[in-house]
Amino acid sequence: MEKLIFLKYGELSTKKDNRNFFIKKLNENISNVLKDEVTITYDYGRMFIKPKDDDFSAVLEGLKNIFGIHEIVIAYKDKNRDIEVIKNNLITLLKDKSFKTFKVEVKRSDKKYPKDGMTLRKELGAHILKNIPNLKVDVNNPELTVNVEIRLQEVLYYFTSIKGLGGYPVGTQGKGLLMLSGGIDSPVAGYLAIKRGIKLEAIYFESPPHTSNEALEKCKKLAKILAGYNMDIKLHIINFTEIQEAIYKNMPVEYLITIMRRMMYRIGAIVASRQKAKVLINGESIGQVASQTLTSMSVVNEVVKIPVIRPVCCFDKLEIIDIAKKIGTYETSILPYEDCCTIFVPLHPVINPEKEKAREYESRIDFEEMIYRAIKNEKVITLTKERENDFTDLL
Ligand code: ATP
Ligand code: MG
Repeated sequence: MEKLIFLKYGELSTKKDNRNFFIKKLNENISNVLKDEVTITYDYGRMFIKPKDDDFSAVLEGLKNIFGIHEIVIAYKDKNRDIEVIKNNLITLLKDKSFKTFKVEVKRSDKKYPKDGMTLRKELGAHILKNIPNLKVDVNNPELTVNVEIRLQEVLYYFTSIKGLGGYPVGTQGKGLLMLSGGIDSPVAGYLAIKRGIKLEAIYFESPPHTSNEALEKCKKLAKILAGYNMDIKLHIINFTEIQEAIYKNMPVEYLITIMRRMMYRIGAIVASRQKAKVLINGESIGQVASQTLTSMSVVNEVVKIPVIRPVCCFDKLEIIDIAKKIGTYETSILPYEDCCTIFVPLHPVINPEKEKAREYESRIDFEEMIYRAIKNEKVITLTKERENDFTDLL
């Protein structure tokens, strides 16, 4: 018998016409993360992954952050489908495991196999009871489920599986540009967008010397964590100082934030279109702060045509924090470095800004030139995640 890992695709199975496209993308993403460590084969229902140097732990660690996988199964494969061989294999695999109750599940993807599922289940269950002492069958709540899958060319045996991340393979929905600040919300928004198959690029606005290098490093660190789900991530760093100072000097104080956000959106939309990203993504959440009332959002949103997706817009802060903890961004997000949104925040920003006023204030200055310069001077870096390993005890 050969030990291997196979994957169940989950939600992909509902994508009838696109199924091959999704599976190919998943294959590509896995190869990308696990590079030369594995050989991959796949068919319509399953993807098989064989670690080249038998390092299952490293491979599982890689797989656990890949979207589009419903379940990761550690299995044994034998090409011999003879019923007596199946029985012997089961005893070999089970005799050293510690469990008291079990049930047998049989899946026949080869419908022409001489025995049907029910017969096999009974026969194999009886064989296990006869050959391993002190066991009981419990169909409702067994300690161990013995899975036997009879395929055209082989039989698979498995008892252990790990839940995958679900979602769609990254890239199956094209590209999106995430406005990534150092806060809690935007990394979570990015994660949720990746989950639906969007390949992210990120944009960060910095205002040196008003914002520090530490703030930039924090953003890079968050981008690196997201890179773990996104394969890698391109980060566009925009120097926002000139624009921000111009706003601060020339715009009425209660409109500072509104106009600053309109500038961010404008730059985001231009960078997105240049990078062929179909959407802008951000961490706005309805009502969280003055600039995130529905009125504020619509006044800010009017400056761009590109769709803006706000994955956390209807979550409470505590729900967002829960996800941030789960995906590993929270600890970094709460580090206390200032953001360019926070340095010039007026005490009383307008909660119900007016479009006409925002337009009129902006028309007093030539922002277009500044926007052009900021984009021309952007710095772009590509970040990848280092992998750690915590599956040793499962194997
Ligand atoms: P976050 O926790 O994500 O920082 P927030 O609650 O602090 O969000 P704001 O500061 O109003 O809210 O920002 C709203 C959204 O605008 C952020 O979620 C992010 O998507 C984007 N944004 C804010 N500041 C920046 C920045 N410096 N660079 C890039 N995007 C930003
Ligand atoms: Mg913020």
